[in-house]
Amino acid sequence: MQLKSDFLIIYVFGLATMGLVMGITCVVIPRLWFFLERAYRVFMEYTPIIYQSEDRLSPVSKSRLSLVARKTLVLDMDNTMITSWFIKSGKKPENKPRIAHDFKFYLGAYGATIYVYKRPYLDHFLDRVSKWYDLTVFTSGAEIYASPILDFLDRGRGILKSRLYRQHCIEQFGMWSKSVLQACPDLSNVVLLDNSSKECSSNAGNAILIRSYEVGSRDQALINLLPFLDALRFLKDVRPMLERCTRFKSFAQ
Ligand SMILES: [Mg+2]
Repeated sequence: MQLKSDFLIIYVFGLATMGLVMGITCVVIPRLWFFLERAYRVFMEYTPIIYQSEDRLSPVSKSRLSLVARKTLVLDMDNTMITSWFIKSGKKPENKPRIAHDFKFYLGAYGATIYVYKRPYLDHFLDRVSKWYDLTVFTSGAEIYASPILDFLDRGRGILKSRLYRQHCIEQFGMWSKSVLQACPDLSNVVLLDNSSKECSSNAGNAILIRSYEVGSRDQALINLLPFLDALRFLKDVRPMLERCTRFKSFAQ
């Protein structure tokens, strides 16, 4: 009788252990795998790429680069490189972002103080791309507003000297629009980086759309673009690549 009851206990204990092992296999392991896969994806996709302080090109790459023309990168300002906040004189700063601004100035013509927030990694981005491209800033903002901001972003480096403002925009379908031809007459050697899909579609084949910068967000859009911009400068004509990589070709058609 004692033997039978011992056997029953061992049998029940064995079944319970098997159930536990199967439970862990079916529930815990898939969840753990999902977590590890997600962590790996975040690590692979969002870890910023750190460039060396100098370009270390192989002799083959140097020779390849010498065969193509140096390209022009046209940079939009608002919501691409910075976001600004206007606060009218005598008004309370309602809804102003609660993070520290990078620069502020008083603009008498608007009767407002302008707070400027740089997009994360902007300085590093400008440092890098100014070595690869001739830079031109093209903003549809007024010159009196944009000029002090660009002076601040340039920090005396002289890399943002070439500037186009609202008065350089062209009228298209009753709206002001940018044309990269204003910055470089050779369309095979010019790239526009802009947060506006309208501007990108009117410069189809020469544009890269970047999402608008929201103040305070953990944004890595600029640094993530560096490998692509690095590769683009080796091409004879940027348009076939940009048409393949953007959806604006069909948009324009
Ligand atoms: Mg913009």
